[in-house]
Amino acid sequence: MSNTQTKELQPTTQRVVFDDLELGEIALELDDKDPQDVIAWGLETFGDRAAFVTSFQIDGIALLDMAYQIRPDVRVITVDTGRLPTATYEYMAQIKQRYPKIRLEVHFPDHRHVEPMVNQYGINLFYDSVPNRLMCCHVRKVRPLLRALEDLDAWFTGLRRDQWASRSNIRKAELDHDHHGIVKINPLADWMEEEVWDYVRQRGIPTHPLYEKGYTSIGCDCCTRAIKPGEDSRAGRWWWEKDAPKECGIHCPIETGGFEHEVQAILGETHEQGDGI
Ligand code: SF4
Repeated sequence: MSNTQTKELQPTTQRVVFDDLELGEIALELDDKDPQDVIAWGLETFGDRAAFVTSFQIDGIALLDMAYQIRPDVRVITVDTGRLPTATYEYMAQIKQRYPKIRLEVHFPDHRHVEPMVNQYGINLFYDSVPNRLMCCHVRKVRPLLRALEDLDAWFTGLRRDQWASRSNIRKAELDHDHHGIVKINPLADWMEEEVWDYVRQRGIPTHPLYEKGYTSIGCDCCTRAIKPGEDSRAGRWWWEKDAPKECGIHCPIETGGFEHEVQAILGETHEQGDGI
């Protein structure tokens, strides 16, 4: 466990950039460090140019709690897709009360992208095909996050290697080439799910109410369900899909089956209307 003390850090205004070699060496040094030490390194290095990105699941909340003990006024970014469960909004408010000094930034999808998508493909388009689902995730989650990351040099995530095959090789700090080469910091990379729960219980942190109802991974209301005994922890995400990645495109590029053309058409139309994205 880290001995890191609470401290106020000076805002960092200058860009902090690493190349692959430099960050590779740092990642090696961080690999056996506790999450608190990795967080402290990230906050010390990037200051206000780093933010925690969370959907208020157990890993993100554990990280937020650790960060709050180091620097209470951390930036916390979340994306409201417009389709979240009511319980998530209630929990978000509860967390803001518990950690009043965090700077919570809620990012929304651009209505000029959502409206043509929904009007052309239907309000529940995600059930119709994997490309439609990926398009919805792209418009409602990935694009808002891209906007949020634009002014950052680093983002903290709650990713763990044991979550899903596509996450098994993540490092505690890595260059995020999918997001203009900023640094992606994964302090919990080598923790197991049970360690996260132990931490949260020991700290007495309230958890998202849907966990009590059998959910193990929580996203949009319409695309998430509780899992059945023996199922993989991410089986409740997009449960109707067979052989499709349990990812939305935020954390790794996805072989898509061709939704890009439709997205391009939607974004292209709105671009002509003055969209600066
Ligand atoms: S999880 Fe479902 S509703 Fe949410 S953005 Fe993805 S496809 Fe759309």
